[in-house]
Amino acid sequence: MYEFSWHMSNVGESHPLLGPLSEIVGVHHVADEDFVRRSYTRGPFQVLGGGSRGRVPGIVVRPADSDQVARIMRLANESLTPVVPKGGGGSAAAFPPHHVGHDGNILLDTTRLNRIDIDREAMTVTAQSGAILSNVQAEARKRGLHFFAVDVPVHMDTIGGVCSGFLGGGEPSDVATAGPMNAYLLGLTVVLPTGLVVRTGGGRAPTCGSRRHCTARRAVPT
Ligand SMILES: Cc1cc2nc3c(=O)[nH]c(=O)nc-3n(C[C@H](O)[C@H](O)[C@H](O)COP(=O)(O)OP(=O)(O)OC[C@H]3O[C@@H](n4cnc5c(N)ncnc54)[C@H](O)[C@@H]3O)c2cc1C
Repeated sequence: MYEFSWHMSNVGESHPLLGPLSEIVGVHHVADEDFVRRSYTRGPFQVLGGGSRGRVPGIVVRPADSDQVARIMRLANESLTPVVPKGGGGSAAAFPPHHVGHDGNILLDTTRLNRIDIDREAMTVTAQSGAILSNVQAEARKRGLHFFAVDVPVHMDTIGGVCSGFLGGGEPSDVATAGPMNAYLLGLTVVLPTGLVVRTGGGRAPTCGSRRHCTARRAVPT
């Protein structure tokens, strides 16, 4: 159990998890400097004059794989430190949310979780949660496939952000024909708050939400 008492007014002091987090992801992928933490509070709607600036996180960490994410979550669980994941930052709400945790929060930036593997034969994509939608689309197109993305800012939104964010899978403009992105998921690797890694699915055909969704899927590859 880690001792944890740190708050924003402790300017000049290191976050208590700086050392343990650096051991997990390396010193170049953890930051508790004020200017870094504040840069993570800016969302697109705030820039446009709407919405509000989110809660300033206590420390920012950028893992590279699910093993590192699991170790971060175990550490957070032991020290009772709230964790807020951040994908592309395209969320329409204030980010990070004000109602989560305290000023010592860990902000888990998924930017480095950006691997994209395409199986041309099976017509499937296996991507890490921080993969940007337009990058996945570009990789699919190189192989003559079409990756369906809902009506979101595709150059900033991530797979993880869209699947966990607004409406649980994105609200498509053509919802009647294509359905939300979650309807296309074949399997997930999920790190639970305890650090336990759970794998679901396994490449089987997804359950069709409706006859229209099935039709749309057949039409997806080009
Ligand atoms: C101009 C504009 C237009 C938009 N239009 C639409 C639209 O038409 N339809 C629609 O559905 N949405 C729309 N959005 C909203 C946006 O697409 C969603 O909020 C989406 O979830 C953002 O994805 P992101 O990767 O940027 O996630 P972030 O903004 O970084 O995070 C969104 C939420 O998901 C959580 N999260 C992120 N990554 C993970 C992860 N790997 N694991 C667990 N939780 C995670 C975050 O903690 C946060 O709560 C729009 C946004 C903008 C700015």
